[in-house]
Amino acid sequence: MPLAETTIDTSALLPESLRDDFPILQQTVHGERPLVFLDSAASSQRPRQVIDAVTEVYERDYANVHRGIHVLSERASDAYELARGKVQKFLGAKYDHECIFTGGTTASINAVARSWGDANVAAGDEILLNPMEHHSNLVPWFQLAERTDATIKHIPLTDDGRLDLDRLDEVLSERTKILAVTQVSNTLGTVNPIAELAARAHDAGAVILIDAAQSAPHLAIDVQQLDVDFLALSGHKMCGPSGVGVLYGKQDLLDTMPPFMGGGSMIGNVALDGFTSAGLPAKFEAGTPPIAQAIGLGAAVDYLTEIGLDRIAAHEHALMEYAYARLSEIEGLKILGPAPEHRAGLVSFVLDQPHAHDIAQLVDRHGIAVRAGHHCTQPLHDLLGITASTRASFYLYNTPGEVDTLVDAISQIVSMFK
Ligand code: PLP
Repeated sequence: MPLAETTIDTSALLPESLRDDFPILQQTVHGERPLVFLDSAASSQRPRQVIDAVTEVYERDYANVHRGIHVLSERASDAYELARGKVQKFLGAKYDHECIFTGGTTASINAVARSWGDANVAAGDEILLNPMEHHSNLVPWFQLAERTDATIKHIPLTDDGRLDLDRLDEVLSERTKILAVTQVSNTLGTVNPIAELAARAHDAGAVILIDAAQSAPHLAIDVQQLDVDFLALSGHKMCGPSGVGVLYGKQDLLDTMPPFMGGGSMIGNVALDGFTSAGLPAKFEAGTPPIAQAIGLGAAVDYLTEIGLDRIAAHEHALMEYAYARLSEIEGLKILGPAPEHRAGLVSFVLDQPHAHDIAQLVDRHGIAVRAGHHCTQPLHDLLGITASTRASFYLYNTPGEVDTLVDAISQIVSMFK
């Protein structure tokens, strides 16, 4: 049971009836254990509205887009472009053609590293990263540095797991070509000050890419207000289908970038000895795109927008604060990352024993799904001197009762290992 002094701000919570929208959450596992899904940072669940939108495309409107002169292709193309418009509004982009459909965050970041990177980064230039980044926002830049002989630099972290902006000038200079940074850390939960970072990067003459894989599902974003040059997100983490994501880029930058993949759809004209590129967004959408998935992402954007990103953020923050407080009461449990006021809706932790993987396996017997491992942030785990952590991540459908179930299960595990 929760200690009397550990309470939750119930005024911030979304109605529990919202869970009825998510068919997958209605099940029990391991016998009669209600499923407690605390692994949305890895991949979220989808509401009926999104599942229905995808089913409807396949049952009624599916055909390849932008090619056929027949009714189904016209319907599918219209729905696909409508979804692009929804994403544009969701991100506050100036033009819909600044929103490119990709396979996900990883694909979006790789596209920038290949296309913008190869055209703009040369030997001696610097790429600015930091140790809390996901491998998807590290490896493509390491590969770019290898191709170009550029240098990788890192913004140092504070002891509590935030970017140390007092030391930004030590690593940001006129040699910096790009600052690539996550808006929310998938391991520490840290929310990074993107507007300030964008201003500092621009003052140094650099561009900024933000990894919004863990922020777009949870926080309202306005790319124009933040003044970011590129943004990457994944549909599957924000109630949408897997296999689709978005690369946002400012029109001026995208216009100057060469296409990174060649094939159908991305061409203006093709002859036996060459080709011209299509304009935006087709230039970066070679081949058959993820049609039903993009339409499903549009439905997910509608769903999240209707509830309101500010309400979703407040709900998750209340759950995270509650989890943070209750988990902190467990002897020997150490939470990674900053105090609640600097973090979004997830909590990663380590125990003296057992190991993170054993914790995940043991809580699974209680019906609780959490993540264990390095969460694709191996350099961060190395820096913290650990090999793995356990992560509980919250979304709009989670409840305080589920936090209690998690804390009770972990308390039992800790007493087993005493
Ligand atoms: N960036 C962050 C911060 C993430 O959390 C993830 C996924 O966990 C990714 C990038 C990669 O996303 P995807 O696997 O959807 O490309």
